[in-house]
Amino acid sequence: MRIGALEAGGTKMVCAVGNEKGEILGQISLPTLTPKETMPGIIDYFKKEGVEALGVGSFGPVDLNKKSGTYGWITSTPKIAWRNFDLLGELKKALDIPMGFDTDVNASMLGEVTWGNAKGLDSAIYITIGTGVGVGVYCNNALLHGMLHPEAGHILLAKDPLDDYKGKCPYHGTCLEGLAAGPAIEERWGRSGKELAKDQRVWELEAFYIAQALVNYTMIVSPQRIILGGGVMKQTQLFPLIHKKYKELMNSYIVTKETTNPEEYIVPAGLNGDQGIMGCLALALKEME
Ligand code: ZN
Repeated sequence: MRIGALEAGGTKMVCAVGNEKGEILGQISLPTLTPKETMPGIIDYFKKEGVEALGVGSFGPVDLNKKSGTYGWITSTPKIAWRNFDLLGELKKALDIPMGFDTDVNASMLGEVTWGNAKGLDSAIYITIGTGVGVGVYCNNALLHGMLHPEAGHILLAKDPLDDYKGKCPYHGTCLEGLAAGPAIEERWGRSGKELAKDQRVWELEAFYIAQALVNYTMIVSPQRIILGGGVMKQTQLFPLIHKKYKELMNSYIVTKETTNPEEYIVPAGLNGDQGIMGCLALALKEME
C-alpha cells in the first residue's frame, strides 16, 4: 500500500510516500511560502505518487477537534499567510482519500510509539528542542488533544538565580522555549549552540531548564518514557547532565524503575530523524483503522 506523509513545517514542507511498515520510499521538500504558492506542489506530488491515504503533521496551532467547523485548519500562527488556513480542507478537495491530521510534534510522538524508542508503551512524551520547543503527548494509547492540544514548550519555569537573561518568548519571556530553545541560547551567550559546544556552563544551565520541564511532565502525565529530539539535542553531552539534574530535582518523590534510571527513561529520538515523517505514515494508518 502506498501511503502519503506530509510534514508541514514553518520553513519547509516535507512530502513523502511510504508503506504500512513505516518504510519511506521517496520524499521531496518544498519551501513554505504562501498557501497559494506552496499547496499546488504538494498536491501534485501526492497525485503523481498515487497514494491511497495521507497523514499530515502540521505546525500550529491547529484545530484538531473533529466536531469543530474549523477542524484541520492552521489557526493563530505567527506565519501570517497561513493564519486561519484550511490545510486539511484544501488537501481533501484535491485528493479523495482518508486523511489523518495532527500537530507535527504529536506526529513525531506517534512515530516513536509505533516504530521508535517508545514502541509498545501506552504513555510517553516527545519533546523537540530546536528553534522552538514542541511537545507531543501520548497518553493511555492515544495522542492527547484536550481543549486544543498541549503547548508544553511554553510552561513557566523557575529561573536559575544567577541567570539574568530576560528570555526570548514574546508571550512569556522565560517559559521553557524562551529560556532553552536555540535562539535563547544564542541570544544569552552571544554565539550559537554549535559554537558553544565545549562551554560547560552553557549546557549545565540548559540541562537545568530542560530537567525542570521533564520533572513537571512526569508529575502531570506520568509518561513511561521521555524522548528528546530537535537541533539542540544534537549536543549529546546534554543527556548525562539532564539525567543528573532530573534526579536532583525529582528528589526521590516518585520512585519507579524509570525515575531511578533516568539514563533509560530520558532518551534520544530513535528513528534517525525520520520520526516526523514516519509518524505521518502512522497517522494515515490510524485514520484507516
Ligand atoms: Zn512562551
